[in-house]
Amino acid sequence: MMAEPLLEVKSIDVYYGEFQALFGVSLRVYKGEIVALLGGNGAGKTTTLLTISGLLKPRNGSIIWQGRDITGLPAFKRVEEGISHVPEGRGIFPRLTVYENLRVAASTRRAKEHFQDSLEQVYTIFPILKARRSQLAGTLSGGEQQMLAIARALIQRPILLMMDEPSLGLAPKLARDVIYLASRLREELGVTILLVEQNVGLSLKVADRGYVMETGRIVLEGASDELALDPRIKAAYLGL
Ligand code: ATP
Repeated sequence: MMAEPLLEVKSIDVYYGEFQALFGVSLRVYKGEIVALLGGNGAGKTTTLLTISGLLKPRNGSIIWQGRDITGLPAFKRVEEGISHVPEGRGIFPRLTVYENLRVAASTRRAKEHFQDSLEQVYTIFPILKARRSQLAGTLSGGEQQMLAIARALIQRPILLMMDEPSLGLAPKLARDVIYLASRLREELGVTILLVEQNVGLSLKVADRGYVMETGRIVLEGASDELALDPRIKAAYLGL
């Protein structure tokens, strides 16, 4: 493993008002990895991603990006730095076309400069989005909307792509495809991926390493193959 992580979350405490959602959460992501962040409903996975994105501020602890402390950096600057987030619930604009959704996602200077190239890339990965480029996003199927949400993040030319429950609400076959997409994005675009999923079994198949959260804390971490064999994981998440 390389010496310096791409991303290091160091012991963050995060609150919603007086409610503490995260307790000393620490994790690392190295360049080129797919890391799964797992756990049940309300464990704190989304909160962790929002804090990495800069949409929530930790009360204690820090976020280190490529060796630099970015805890105080606003969210839009983090996108410029190469951190993109596919939000839970997708966050697309239903009344804009597919193309317009992609166009407005190119918000940073770098993304604007490379927009045509990025668009070609995204259309190659998701030919269906090219076919539907003039269609209103709200009329796409659930799976297509999820592809569009991922495509919007890719338009920002991320170094780290964070995906929040991409399989949510999709039929099993599509859910599987969207989780496996993580491998393809790493291979074809070289992005590093932090994947939040409730589908523990599938996530551990595509991820190199994983962290498991429970009630705002990391309770287990390790290589995916080890986690998949861990009796606690088997009992709690794999129904074994
Ligand atoms: P899910 O899979 O349900 O999204 P999660 O692991 O992503 O779960 P979070 O959404 O991070 O969990 O929630 C962590 C805790 O923070 C939960 O107890 C949740 O109820 C609480 N929480 C989340 N968002 C808010 C909010 N806006 N205001 C108050 N509490 C919140």
